[in-house]
Amino acid sequence: MKVVKKLNEMSKISSSLITKGFVLGLVPTMGDLHEGHLSLVRLAKSQCQKLIMSIFVNPTQFGPREDFKKYPRDFEGDYSKAIKEGVDYIFLPTDEEMYGTDYKTFVEVSKLGSIMCGRSRPGHFKGVCTVVLKLFNIIKPNRAYFGQKDYQQVVIIKKMVEDLNLSVDIVSCPTIREKDGLALSSRNKYLSTEERKSAAELYRQLNLAAEMIGGGERDLGKIEKIITGNLKKVKHIKKVDYFNLRDNVSLKELKHAGVSGQKILAATAVWVGGTRLIDNIIIKIE
Ligand code: AMP
Repeated sequence: MKVVKKLNEMSKISSSLITKGFVLGLVPTMGDLHEGHLSLVRLAKSQCQKLIMSIFVNPTQFGPREDFKKYPRDFEGDYSKAIKEGVDYIFLPTDEEMYGTDYKTFVEVSKLGSIMCGRSRPGHFKGVCTVVLKLFNIIKPNRAYFGQKDYQQVVIIKKMVEDLNLSVDIVSCPTIREKDGLALSSRNKYLSTEERKSAAELYRQLNLAAEMIGGGERDLGKIEKIITGNLKKVKHIKKVDYFNLRDNVSLKELKHAGVSGQKILAATAVWVGGTRLIDNIIIKIE
């Protein structure tokens, strides 16, 4: 496994792999790798001939008062996990390498980027799209792998790929969870023992919404109200940014559940103590 820090070198390596006819897979990450990241790597390994993982804590996707500085970084740990999984290249650029000193160009997917997480994190998806497009341009992967844990991110990246005629397949991968249902996240490290217990409530409440729909409730506004209320009552949950039931493709708000076969995205973002956690599930109407 080779670690590449320079953008030009990464581009050259990629071009030569493409010339040789290899199918290139890219797994973009911010590092501090856990089983969620590794599940993306495993799927990518099974579908691609050469695998590049990027590790870059992207400053442009963090707001001024967010956790960019304290975001967990553990390159040694990441290196040994990546090598075990058979990653071929780690692309590890510096901020300077990616953005230089006079960076001015950003990519924004309008509307989709300003709802849900975009409402509470203005500019977040603009930073995500910009860095992902840069990675696509540098590496030119055939396939890129993203986790459903960040569902809105996948929808937005797919839209960017469609609108900008990019020739990369976006593969979305299932959410990996702890035994009690908490979705794995690098930010779970911020939680105290007590907060960690409360964090499991996110997944429970998403499933409760699924049960209500399964039980015949069709008024989605009512379910949103009940679940938001439940989340607000959980010890250590300081704020509910949103709990939404939306169309799983367009992300449009839904007031009523529809016909059998319809898929509804149930998604939430809450503050457990000082830590913002997100989670989602897809509910299929039987
Ligand atoms: P991050 O390092 O948090 O930017 O995540 C890098 C990629 O891993 C993103 O595509 C995430 O959606 C994905 N990911 C993070 N956590 C999980 C998880 N628990 N299960 C599956 N994928 C995940």
